[in-house]
Amino acid sequence: MASQRIPKVTAKCRCKKVVLEIYELDPGFAACHCSTCQFMHSGPGFGGSCNNVKIVQGTEVVKKYNPSAWATWHFCATCGTRLHYEFDKKLWKNKHNRFVVSVGLLYEAGVKNFKMIEEVSYDEKPPYYCFAGQRPKLTTSQTYALYAFDSQQP
Ligand SMILES: [Zn+2]
Ligand SMILES: [Zn+2]
Repeated sequence: MASQRIPKVTAKCRCKKVVLEIYELDPGFAACHCSTCQFMHSGPGFGGSCNNVKIVQGTEVVKKYNPSAWATWHFCATCGTRLHYEFDKKLWKNKHNRFVVSVGLLYEAGVKNFKMIEEVSYDEKPPYYCFAGQRPKLTTSQTYALYAFDSQQP
């Protein structure tokens, strides 16, 4: 992802109990059409990659859920906002992009220059929507291969 990273963003969940600090955010994001995203978001997942997330307020209401061995979702147990997910440290060796934050939450926090630069798990996309515009579309196996490759980098 080639966009200029944003050094630090402070964002809140819908009920404002949870406050997050997001570091080195890439405004070029991927839309994910996988079945887990369809379950959890009632649609595709828009995730902004960044290098670190710190929960600075409201840790007591943050719940975690592992939809797969790859990553752990964090959400606010009060308002239900999906905050971010974190790739497993042992699987994700790349020093960048181990944390992925909900784009809608960041947009509300003032990040207005997001650009959808790719679509992943396109083979799992349900037929009732599609996005306008041209960008790379990866299948789930291409997506995993890319992540597996990235995760082998020192
Ligand atoms: Zn909340
Ligand atoms: Zn997904």
